[in-house]
Amino acid sequence: MEGGLPVGDAPPRPLIVALGGNALLPKRSRGRLEDQWRATRAAAEHVAQLAGSGQPLLVVHGNGPQVGLELQRAALTEAALPAVTVDMAVANTQGALGYSLARALGDALAARGLERPVAALITQVLVAADDPAFRAPDKPIGPWLTAEQAETLRREQGWTLVALGPEPRGWRRLVASPQPLAVLELPAIRSLLATGTVVVAGGGGGIPVQRKGSRLEGVAAVVDKDRTAALLAQDLSAAGLLIATDVRGVALHYGQTDESWPRRLTVAEAEALLAGEALGAGSMRPKVAAALAVARAGGRAVICHLEAMAEAWAGEAGTEVGG
Ligand code: ADP
Ligand code: MG
Repeated sequence: MEGGLPVGDAPPRPLIVALGGNALLPKRSRGRLEDQWRATRAAAEHVAQLAGSGQPLLVVHGNGPQVGLELQRAALTEAALPAVTVDMAVANTQGALGYSLARALGDALAARGLERPVAALITQVLVAADDPAFRAPDKPIGPWLTAEQAETLRREQGWTLVALGPEPRGWRRLVASPQPLAVLELPAIRSLLATGTVVVAGGGGGIPVQRKGSRLEGVAAVVDKDRTAALLAQDLSAAGLLIATDVRGVALHYGQTDESWPRRLTVAEAEALLAGEALGAGSMRPKVAAALAVARAGGRAVICHLEAMAEAWAGEAGTEVGG
């Protein structure tokens, strides 16, 4: 064949890195921007170590702490400024974190002499209106509320609220965490990856949208970024999914005296863990489920500490599922 790729030459399979929102804003920092920049630059250094081989690279990131701050800020200004909806709060954090990561990654790549462009994409994910998660919202979001505020918001806005804390510390809003069905910007992600661009997409799990007739509508929900990363890994036939977080992998008997950190879980072992109660419901469980989905589809899947990404991809750190 003249010009272009020989017939049958498939594009190289991308590596997907999922960065934890907590890893980008350490829990102790109380949301200070300089802490977020420091953590983002550190994360970017570790991602840049993976970019040298020229392998297509897609970064998905969380936004848990950041979206919490965004909604808290909105609550503090509610008497003076218009309200912020959850989909807008996700979009705002996706934009701000996308900018931070793109800038930090660009700097980290340039410092290594790597001429790879970086682009952060605003990403919407389609969720189903009849997803069972909407019948039992379980993700606390936004500021702590008094019982009186909670009652008003339940009555006037139809919010689901829950009293939380050892002694009732207060009330929180609960939103659903539905399954992502499709990433709407998938063709754009594919095109950018094919040009060698390091892509940041699916931030915060993506902005959840639903189809309403011929239009899309934002939804008051949050999508777990590990689920979105797994969906992208499957859609893009990824070579691997590296889930970088604030612990070194998957622990057995987590937090107990006989805690251990296996370097490998077979598919059957991961299935058994998911069938039990040993994994944190909104934390380690979606990571193991995501890793399992990728392993079943023939990719490598490793859960590791943010600072051990390169070692984990080299098979020297983290917990690898399958293989
Ligand atoms: P991220 O922002 O990276 O998604 P999460 O807080 O959602 O971070 O998930 C990581 C957390 O999962 C760890 O900090 C740990 O407290 C928790 N966790 C729950 N169960 C386990 C387990 N079995 N092994 C390791 N970590 C676990
Ligand atoms: Mg998480």
